[in-house]
Amino acid sequence: MVAIPGGEPLIHKEIGEIVRGLVARKKFVSLCTNALLLEKKLDLFEPSPYLFFSVHLDGLKEHHDKAVSQKGVFDRAVSAIKAAKARGFTVNVNATIFDGHAAEDIAKFLDFTTELGVGVSMSPGYAYERAPDQEHFLNRTKTKRLFRDVFALGKGKKWNFMHSGLFLDFLAGNQDYECTPWGMPARNIFGWQKPCYLLGEGYTKTFKELMETTDWDSYGTGKYEKCANCMAHCGYEPTAADAALANPLKAMWVALRGVRVKGPMAPEIGRRNISSRSRSRRSSQRSAVTRPSPPSRRPRQPRRLRSARLKSSPVETSERSVSGLRARPRRTFRRSMSPFGLIAIRASAGNARLAGSLMTRNAANGSSNAAA
Ligand code: SF4
Repeated sequence: MVAIPGGEPLIHKEIGEIVRGLVARKKFVSLCTNALLLEKKLDLFEPSPYLFFSVHLDGLKEHHDKAVSQKGVFDRAVSAIKAAKARGFTVNVNATIFDGHAAEDIAKFLDFTTELGVGVSMSPGYAYERAPDQEHFLNRTKTKRLFRDVFALGKGKKWNFMHSGLFLDFLAGNQDYECTPWGMPARNIFGWQKPCYLLGEGYTKTFKELMETTDWDSYGTGKYEKCANCMAHCGYEPTAADAALANPLKAMWVALRGVRVKGPMAPEIGRRNISSRSRSRRSSQRSAVTRPSPPSRRPRQPRRLRSARLKSSPVETSERSVSGLRARPRRTFRRSMSPFGLIAIRASAGNARLAGSLMTRNAANGSSNAAA
């Protein structure tokens, strides 16, 4: 399964050939686009069960045009969606939900996508900037409350989410999942990006090198300041998919009963700068039930390096972690691909958040795909 995000992949002069090649290899392809060029370029593609367009829409007309700072974009995107569907293509939309977007407006947007006949993937946007602990936790809590409000408004409606039920349950604060940063490896013109497409902590030339030299245990909410607010699908949908496989009855229960929107939330993940003993206990307890093991476990970082990561600026952290990783021994790599079989190819260094929708589609359909 391959997601092609951007920038805008439709401006790539060989995008038709790239997609054709992937489809010929029976890879599921998510072509993420703002749809401004979609109608004009539809002839480059052929409808296929292996191909779908994932159109960026952050909300209804007023909200979306404001989000992209250009009037008329929403109308053009909707027109392109209708044209693509009329030609037999599968189309989904992907939305990034930011703080300040009213639950009622999000619900109306989801109603609109149902009328349009498209599936929806949603990801909460979050700030990368460092902030005090309480602010981090408050932001995650606000995200969960917002999604609870949205899902409460959706009771009885048939919104077509391209997510696993447990990921939606996680967004509503009912699951305490840890990030699975290797769940959706990203590649762009610089190489394989560490550790996920949201963070740029260096690149490797090969996938094997990515898996062997990335200190996966250092990433995720509660472990790294840049990850503090993250609830993005690229890291947490893989965890939810793995949890569904590990506990299908629980997944079935959520699917049948819907996402719980009342009652206590699951405890928030603590940060690593709590006492090392409780940190270690919490980590081992949680890892056993909420996050799959990485394909290759690496030795833990020396304490000095770990504390340097928490204290340093983002740039310093990146440099130190890369140089530190190079100096440490490596273990044998046992698996040749992501356990979830999804790769995001980035056409540029632009926003690539749409890529996770493939993962969710995979989870929803129970498809079995190989990485490109
Ligand atoms: S928590 Fe988010 S930003 Fe951090 S590694 Fe996971 S997906 Fe990437």
